[in-house]
Amino acid sequence: MNWLSKQFTFVIIPDANQSVQRFRLNGFILVLVPSVIALLAVCSALFIILFGGNMSEIRHLKKQLAASESGYAETLQDKENHISSLEADLTALSAQAEQIETKMSEITELELQLKKIAGIKEPDVHISSATIEDGEEGGQGGEEIELPASAEPTSLASQTEQEFVALSSRMEALRPSLEATKSAMLKYKQILDITPTIWPADNRKITSTFGVRRDPFSRRSALHAGLDIGGNRGDPIYAAADGVVTLSERAYPQGNNIIINHGRGIETRYMHLNERLVKVGDKVKKGQLIGELGNTGRSTGPHLHYEVIVNGTQVDPMPYIQEDRKERE
Ligand SMILES: [Zn+2]
Repeated sequence: MNWLSKQFTFVIIPDANQSVQRFRLNGFILVLVPSVIALLAVCSALFIILFGGNMSEIRHLKKQLAASESGYAETLQDKENHISSLEADLTALSAQAEQIETKMSEITELELQLKKIAGIKEPDVHISSATIEDGEEGGQGGEEIELPASAEPTSLASQTEQEFVALSSRMEALRPSLEATKSAMLKYKQILDITPTIWPADNRKITSTFGVRRDPFSRRSALHAGLDIGGNRGDPIYAAADGVVTLSERAYPQGNNIIINHGRGIETRYMHLNERLVKVGDKVKKGQLIGELGNTGRSTGPHLHYEVIVNGTQVDPMPYIQEDRKERE
């Protein structure tokens, strides 16, 4: 008979005062229970061996993932910061383009004024920076692509780029125009230098104007061919423009008097001087000291008789006098 089918009796003796416990088990149960326990132990061991390593691997991967996540977040933040800073730069650049545009318009306007002063006529064709209103002369047309109105960085970037391209071409166009204005201004300055535009004395007190008046000596009507400017004996008298001294003498009725030839048929004459400080042949500059105010010749008191002579005829000096004497650099 197989021992698996045998019955086994177990006796348990707790202590001397208690009754003996006994129970029976057959051989199959006795084998099954330890076998199941052993199997469970082996399975547990295998599980621990197989998955215990993987668990640590998973933990490691999880850590790596977390580290990469925070790395990516940092990189993303860096990129966002960089984009924000680029956007700020772009906005500043766009504002700068607008400022340059305004300054360019001011320069163009100034140049127009200079051209007006120098008497240069504007060519008929010019680029207008202002939009021509409906109904105004001119007009514009053709297909145009609307710029997006949004302030998105990409559209702002292309808008700013276009502004700079436009500015660059305006500057290119301005250069030859400014060169022409400069040479015209130089010519204008040369003409201004030889035109008697400044006051020949410091005093502005006009004691007698140009024109017909009652002669202070004869009491008869006569043409007063110059401008009388009052002052004190010894006051400085200045050349009204660049020129060459063609006369410097004492005579009657002019007294001590000087004539300066400025070219282009224009001369100036200074009479009744106290002193003459230049001689015939001297080249004088506009505003240069040439003599002293006086009372020589036919004169009732210290004054300068100042004449502007155009092609041999005295004209009213007042329209010529435009400005004060300036100190030369
Ligand atoms: Zn006079």
